[in-house]
Amino acid sequence: MSNRIYNFSAGPAVLPLAVLEEAQRDLVTLPGVGMSVLEISHRSKAFDEIILGCEADIRQLAGLPDNYHVLFLQGGASMQFSMVPMNLMPAGGEADYVSTGSWSKKAIKEAQKVGQVNVAGTTESENFTRVPKQDELKLDPQAAYVHITTNETIHGVEWKYDPDSAGVPLVADASSDIFGRPIDVKKYALIYAGAQKNLAPAGVTLVFIRDDMLARSPQGMHTMLDYNTHVKNKSLYNTPPVFTIYVMRLVMKWLVEQGGLAEAERRNQEKAALIYDVIDASSFYRGHAQADCRSLMNVTFRLPSEDLEKQFVGEATKAGLDGLKGHRSVGGIRASIYNAFPKDGVEALVAFMKEFERTHG
Ligand code: PMP
Repeated sequence: MSNRIYNFSAGPAVLPLAVLEEAQRDLVTLPGVGMSVLEISHRSKAFDEIILGCEADIRQLAGLPDNYHVLFLQGGASMQFSMVPMNLMPAGGEADYVSTGSWSKKAIKEAQKVGQVNVAGTTESENFTRVPKQDELKLDPQAAYVHITTNETIHGVEWKYDPDSAGVPLVADASSDIFGRPIDVKKYALIYAGAQKNLAPAGVTLVFIRDDMLARSPQGMHTMLDYNTHVKNKSLYNTPPVFTIYVMRLVMKWLVEQGGLAEAERRNQEKAALIYDVIDASSFYRGHAQADCRSLMNVTFRLPSEDLEKQFVGEATKAGLDGLKGHRSVGGIRASIYNAFPKDGVEALVAFMKEFERTHG
């Protein structure tokens, strides 16, 4: 597949080549079914096997306790910004949110439409170069829940610890680092993640919800926005994105075959270190995140000027390194290197960075 370029995009993002090839091979006729997966009913036996197989692998990978439900929802992680407070925050209640970047700010904005939000910690005055330390968090024991964003996709900062919320349910947006490393699910009451980085193409949002959270949804909630609907109907209340879930099923199988989350983390650490080592050894490149908070998934850095950053992105694209432009809200460079991103692509970027510094530094 020599014509595939390296895709550093933050999401939708690179998928495992083996998964693309299997999906391509079986696209017209799913073995034993006689129809394409694009054509089958979500009520068919064939799809039942796909979604149940997907859930089984997810449960195994995450080590999910039995009192957690797995949901496949639509509306993206952005819909969860609303569903979480609408379901978990009681009328007149409040919730704690930790603000670590653009995505937590978006979550906060929606929660404020439902109830009172306490910003229990923020690093905004430091331009979101790190996440707060445990002793910097001002948690309210009366809060309905505490919300964190485990990895800020735009700023490239990642929580390296699970905060202690002192018994208050912990909720996490894990959209951009889910399954990039082991996850201690039992510390969380609810975890959500848009699929289009580490899990699948765009179109589905994975939710883990602890059973006791379901009783909180208020009476009269809109059917589609109520977690109970999707638990009762096993994510098949309405038509789910069949093809996306099928590809997720293949990605989960691939992840299990690769050795699970511990092995994924080992590979991700190895890949990220290759780039961070170049940044650390250079005064030309400047990493955005503090060393103890830098993301394994989204490596963010600056060059001495915006002009050089523009040149860097342009020349990298010509060299087959695509999608390196930082998010429009912060600028700079961002290399997204999710599970499926190959190590040789990281090595190609590192060689390019060294050469660019040599010729432009
Ligand atoms: N949270 C995080 C951390 C994200 O990275 C993103 C998307 N990049 C979202 C939420 C929003 O996800 P979606 O586009 O699926 O609504």
